[in-house]
Amino acid sequence: MMELLFLGTGASVPSRDRATSCIAVRVGPDIVLMDCGEGSQRQLMVSPFSFMKIRTILITHMHGDHVFGLPGLLQTMSLSGRRDPLTVYGPVGLAHGVSAMMSVTEGETQYPLEVVELEGGETFDVCGLRITAYATSHGTPSVGFTVREPDRPGRPDRARALELGVHDGPEMALLKAGETVNGVSPSEVVGPPTPGASVSYTGDTVPCPGIVEASAGVDVLIHESTYMSSESEMAADHFHSTASQAAVAAREAGVRCLMLTHVSNRYDDRSLVEAEAREHFPEVVAVEDMDLFEITSRGVRRASR
Ligand SMILES: [Zn+2]
Ligand SMILES: [Zn+2]
Repeated sequence: MMELLFLGTGASVPSRDRATSCIAVRVGPDIVLMDCGEGSQRQLMVSPFSFMKIRTILITHMHGDHVFGLPGLLQTMSLSGRRDPLTVYGPVGLAHGVSAMMSVTEGETQYPLEVVELEGGETFDVCGLRITAYATSHGTPSVGFTVREPDRPGRPDRARALELGVHDGPEMALLKAGETVNGVSPSEVVGPPTPGASVSYTGDTVPCPGIVEASAGVDVLIHESTYMSSESEMAADHFHSTASQAAVAAREAGVRCLMLTHVSNRYDDRSLVEAEAREHFPEVVAVEDMDLFEITSRGVRRASR
């Protein structure tokens, strides 16, 4: 099971009810943070998630509304006693950006801080999760990320075991514990694996085929939706996407659910943005700050707003 908490869903500037980009993915106790806009640490403090459980931070690009919160968060974790190493992943320019922000603010961490720059196609594992960066297009070095939980192996199928001559009771218990019983091995009766949860986060970008390819079949595609189609020229000029374009990507990638974020402040009524996307893809939600979702093999469930 994967939990998805939206800490900041605004675009470019914070507003009274929305902070700038920051999303937390929690699996068990471990948190992967995606982008870290201004105020992210305070959003975490008033959320059910602990900022001390962050295992890694993924940055999509170096625009301020995605990184202004990073030096503050890195420093607070240090002052709060963090000693575990932390790795921050992001596009080319991240290492210079982090070191510049830390040095001008005289920030220092009492834990090993590693910064890794990567390009689309690179994959790494964190806390048992497989994370892959993919290329996006935003007029500045940028990447999106998929985060995938591994599939859980199937459990022994009782009906099949009975058929093959294993009896309920101690025999079945031994088989479930991994032993061969009456000549029947556990691998002969194992059921299908349970698929792990998966999300894809585009960060800021114009539509590009790499998003569809990397996000194929994920449970949740978190796609930026800065504009509506009425402003599609402006969207292209500023390297952003419209709600319709996000929905077309979701449809082409065959995802389970589309979540629209980074919606411009010009759209007070986010239900209109959602409605535009729904013309192309039915399962869509325009997310707001502090929206929390649970993703399991059974589906995507809103846990709270
Ligand atoms: Zn942005
Ligand atoms: Zn941007």
